[in-house]
Amino acid sequence: MRKNRLPALVRWPLKALAIIWASPYTLFGSLVGVVGMCSGGKVRFRDGALEFHGGGVEWLLAKVTGFASAMTWGHVILGRTDTALDLCAEHERVHVRQYERWGLLFGPAYLLASAWMWARGKRPYRDNPFEREAYEKAP
Ligand SMILES: [Zn+2]
Repeated sequence: MRKNRLPALVRWPLKALAIIWASPYTLFGSLVGVVGMCSGGKVRFRDGALEFHGGGVEWLLAKVTGFASAMTWGHVILGRTDTALDLCAEHERVHVRQYERWGLLFGPAYLLASAWMWARGKRPYRDNPFEREAYEKAP
């Protein structure tokens, strides 16, 4: 992993801005996670992200995505199980960094990238540049 060379006086305000910039997605992910906790799910905080798993979160990932073991919303990672969160941790952290860079634009950019891949006859998920970056940095 590349070492951050910015001084703390610059790094911390930038991190705060990144957290604020991604916060609408974090709020949505948190709401989903809290609903999941009401149906038996659990939460933990690790490496700068809230991680929800089990209960309604597991059900939602199975029903909505069909295949995803985990999914990131801002600084929230939703996982089917705690093991799934462990296995996907690095990949999902790449998505957290993408939310920090793209903020509100991340959702539209991700969907447009998937649509563009589909329109070109490629795979909307695996060929999406955001997923390619995540799989390259954390296979
Ligand atoms: Zn991914």
